Amino acid sequence: MNNTLSQQIQKRARDLGFELVGITPAEQSQTIQRYRQWIENGYAGKMGYLERHLPLKEDTRRLLQEAKSIISLAMNYYTIDTPKALAENPSRGQISRYAWGDDYHDVIRERLLDLVDFIKTTGEDQLKSRVFVDSGPVLEREYAQKAKLGWIGKNTNLINWRSGSWYFLAEVLVSIDLVSKDLGGETETLRGSCGTCTKCLEACPTDAFIEPNVLDSRLCISYLTIELKDSIPKELRSKMGNLIFGCDICQEVCPWNSKAVSTGEPAFQPRDGNLAPELLSLVNMTQAEFSEKYRGSPIKRAKRRGFLRNVIVAIGNWGSRAAVPALRKALVDDEPLIRGHAAWALGQIGGKQAEQALHAQLQQENDAEVISEIQDALQNSNDKNLGTNKSTNSHYN
Ligand code: SF4
Ligand code: SF4
Repeated sequence: MNNTLSQQIQKRARDLGFELVGITPAEQSQTIQRYRQWIENGYAGKMGYLERHLPLKEDTRRLLQEAKSIISLAMNYYTIDTPKALAENPSRGQISRYAWGDDYHDVIRERLLDLVDFIKTTGEDQLKSRVFVDSGPVLEREYAQKAKLGWIGKNTNLINWRSGSWYFLAEVLVSIDLVSKDLGGETETLRGSCGTCTKCLEACPTDAFIEPNVLDSRLCISYLTIELKDSIPKELRSKMGNLIFGCDICQEVCPWNSKAVSTGEPAFQPRDGNLAPELLSLVNMTQAEFSEKYRGSPIKRAKRRGFLRNVIVAIGNWGSRAAVPALRKALVDDEPLIRGHAAWALGQIGGKQAEQALHAQLQQENDAEVISEIQDALQNSNDKNLGTNKSTNSHYN
């Protein structure tokens, strides 16, 4: 056991911007069976890499044979709150907080490598190590909880009793036996719990929680807008509101996040245009414009086709006829995924112009899925027209 080195590591990690640091022994995962069951239940959706990572996730020593300790770290990304009037404006899109700034993978990885360099300078020049940020095959919340960084809430996020859950998690596996307790000199006890609260479970717009702490990704808007590469299931589109990249709802409602303190980290401050952007400013972006706008941003993960698909769903939910010209353009995009969703959105809006565009595209469309979307959209628009005779039109028009 080497307390002094552990304390030095903690101090260095804090200096590098990690607010929470803890250490656990590198040993077999204790939650792997539960995780395996979650995958077998199909809750991972089309994230096949999660299943492929299973053998590695069983034991971190499969990632680094010499690993003796896991340094668990968390970096705060909470910055500001979007003004309510903007967040709730259906002509604007909402992007998940974690994606407002620079790509955290790049930012955090650099800091982790700095931490490794530091450890080597303490006389550990033979150190073997591996660093992971979010996407690695590590059950990071399990180790973070074990390292007393927080507990895993009913919303499946790691929550710290002092400062909530707006954290990026990261790990450094090291070949040194470090103390397996909090590094603050005094032993941290794990505090806080969800208790009888169920706010996150109730607030989820798609009812994605099967039970507390069990999420069906296939229903989660974060999965639908980022991980899913195909069409968004029609029955879920209207529940997505104006969420165009990720979803923060089950964290926004969490009472523990009222304790969140803004980070001063420049890399995580909202980039221009990422705070409630106008949907019409995004929907006709070319590939070159998309690449330029989201260079070095987590948003690039969705790729142009996925991101525009999300924007178009939000436009359909907005339901304004002001969007018809932009959707007409999207309806002839090279990408079938975009054309299909544009058809759906036009069907949601309805009206003569929308129907004309749908009919025109139906004549020349050759993708079976898009044809089906257009036919459904025309039917939907027709139903809407009939309904309009009896009731008022959308209040967004
Ligand atoms: Fe539901 Fe959104 Fe939370 Fe996913 S991120 S579980 S959609 S509230
Ligand atoms: Fe737990 Fe309530 Fe937060 Fe959900 S909203 S994670 S139940 S404290």
